Amino acid sequence: MDQAPIAPHVVILSSPGMGHIIPLASLAICLTQHHGLSVTLISNTISSNQQSLQDFLSFNQVKLIKLEEPNIPSPSSSNLKAELRIWQTITSTMPHVHSKIKSIAKESHLSAIIFDAFYLDALDTAKELNIPCFLFFTTSCMALSFTFALPSLDKQYQNQFCDLPKPVQLPGCVPIRGIDLHDAIQDRTTEIYKGFLSGINRFKEVSGVLVNSYEELEPGPIKGLKEFKGMPHVCQVGPLIRTSSIGPGQGKECLRWLDRQPHGSVVFVSFGSGGALTWQQTKELALGLEMSEQPFLWVARYPNDESSAYFFGSKDMQGQLNFLPEGFLTRTEKVGLVVPHWVPQVEILAHPAVGGFMTHCGWNSVLESLVHGVPLITLPLFAEQKINAVLLTEDVKVAIRPKQDAW
Ligand code: UDP
Ligand code: UDP
Repeated sequence: MDQAPIAPHVVILSSPGMGHIIPLASLAICLTQHHGLSVTLISNTISSNQQSLQDFLSFNQVKLIKLEEPNIPSPSSSNLKAELRIWQTITSTMPHVHSKIKSIAKESHLSAIIFDAFYLDALDTAKELNIPCFLFFTTSCMALSFTFALPSLDKQYQNQFCDLPKPVQLPGCVPIRGIDLHDAIQDRTTEIYKGFLSGINRFKEVSGVLVNSYEELEPGPIKGLKEFKGMPHVCQVGPLIRTSSIGPGQGKECLRWLDRQPHGSVVFVSFGSGGALTWQQTKELALGLEMSEQPFLWVARYPNDESSAYFFGSKDMQGQLNFLPEGFLTRTEKVGLVVPHWVPQVEILAHPAVGGFMTHCGWNSVLESLVHGVPLITLPLFAEQKINAVLLTEDVKVAIRPKQDAW
């Protein structure tokens, strides 16, 4: 009797952070469900409190390997510090990941490794096993274009990028001011800058790049990517988003509250899984929402500056809203809902009462908003989010960007 052919096996490596695990889990599910592959996802983001995400993966036949990491970086701390901690976590886990993948290869028909940008060192594992490896780029093609361009920009300019006399012109993209480039490259004397640059120099070694974007959204940047000689072939596979937010039930009251609001009236305000404002920004935002008299749903996080702990107690008190301006909650209780915890964002953006989204421009949030036809107000906070804000306001024109210098 003929034996059924063994499905090719793919290992996917996700670096820490919900913004990585969410699209990589979606990719894993897409590969098992639509392409008949067998997939193992390796991650140290998923903790026991995310049982529902684990259940969702196993329901879709994705094998999950959880890396035990005592110190998972949380992006809510200072932005660059978070990126540095991600590098450090990955560097320390890499030997373990390397031997794990090699043992998977012994037991299965391992055909490829897919990883996000922080896991570039997995290239060495793929080389040793003589299998192809693909980089999954979790953000926009415009940000990818900047990443491809950095080695030559580095040679071309001596000063800090924020001091550039003219905006940077990337192929097929709208011009970007130096100050709006990726956070990690703003200080060119740092280890993170050097790490970023040497990582990009290794991009040439990958078999291809999969990017979570799509032709209709970024036709110019997608075409422009072809102009980078020597860089790998780029294939856009987006928008890969979840169709429902996976959560332990927390935040369902938001949906019930939205049910009572007029169609298209609510501004949803949220800054991703870790984005937080300073106390001053939090206060300004609260006053702005109050003065607008517009219904709002605000996922308010504890301010990220150190003085907040002095004024409002330690971060252990997260979950309370004592950092909001005095009387704010009472004055706005008829128009607004403020929540200090995780919310089912996909369901919120899909809700007919939501008419706008004030976002930090994390790429998953952007895609979720666009797929549900919700226009955006951009408040980029870290990483490549300012590049995404420029794309959305000046190229795609689905967003407005308040002047952030004012606060
Ligand atoms: N998210 C959510 N509920 C929350 C906060 C975030 O469901 O309360 C999800 C959001 O829908 C998105 C992801 O977490 O899928 C955040 O990713 P994004 O790229 O927007 O930002 P990051 O968290 O990486 O800064
Ligand atoms: N969370 C959730 N569903 C998810 C992902 C996260 O309910 O699919 C919750 C999780 O329980 C946690 C919070 O969101 O309380 C933030 O999770 P994350 O792992 O990003 O950060 P940390 O645990 O470090 O705060």
